Amino acid sequence: MKKIAMTVSFAFLLLTLGACVGNGSWNWKTSSDLEGFPLNHQQVIKHLRTANEAAKEAMKSDHPPFGAVLVAPDGETVLMKQGNVSLMDHAETVIARQAFVKYDPDYLWKCTLVTNVEPCAMCAGNIYWANIGNVVYGVEEITAKKLTGADKRNPTMNLPCRTVFTAGQKPIRVVGPVPELEDELLAPHRAYWK
Ligand SMILES: [Zn+2]
Repeated sequence: MKKIAMTVSFAFLLLTLGACVGNGSWNWKTSSDLEGFPLNHQQVIKHLRTANEAAKEAMKSDHPPFGAVLVAPDGETVLMKQGNVSLMDHAETVIARQAFVKYDPDYLWKCTLVTNVEPCAMCAGNIYWANIGNVVYGVEEITAKKLTGADKRNPTMNLPCRTVFTAGQKPIRVVGPVPELEDELLAPHRAYWK
């Protein structure tokens, strides 16, 4: 029985690794993991902090502290900055839908959506359909879920965005979580979800 469990675990590990490599995803370890990604380490940190600013601005209006930015292919220019609007209008979804109307899909494929907390299934779907090719998130959805619980203002899901993207037909590249910023990004959530 134990042997079977180990075999199954190993098979799952292989499948997971295969899915990550196949989907062009990285887990955050060192800056070298960002090879070929549109943002370098410094830019990842900087834009995550801007996304966190948008999250804190949303919180001032009593919205959940979620925020995101859309970064141009140069890795520097912030094209859009957005906080949470409502239960349905999450920051990433608002950006993806507006960007889809405003920009060419080939251009969006080279852009990066940077968000303080991992995109939920709805937002990952919007990112996919808008053709945004790169994603950075600071904190995993499951980590946020521990703080939000089943709060009606945000009954957080538990479906990694990589799983959503891997189910699609485009190699969207994902960087995250970014542990070195976790405390900073979770601070507004610790204050909000009481
Ligand atoms: Zn969402």
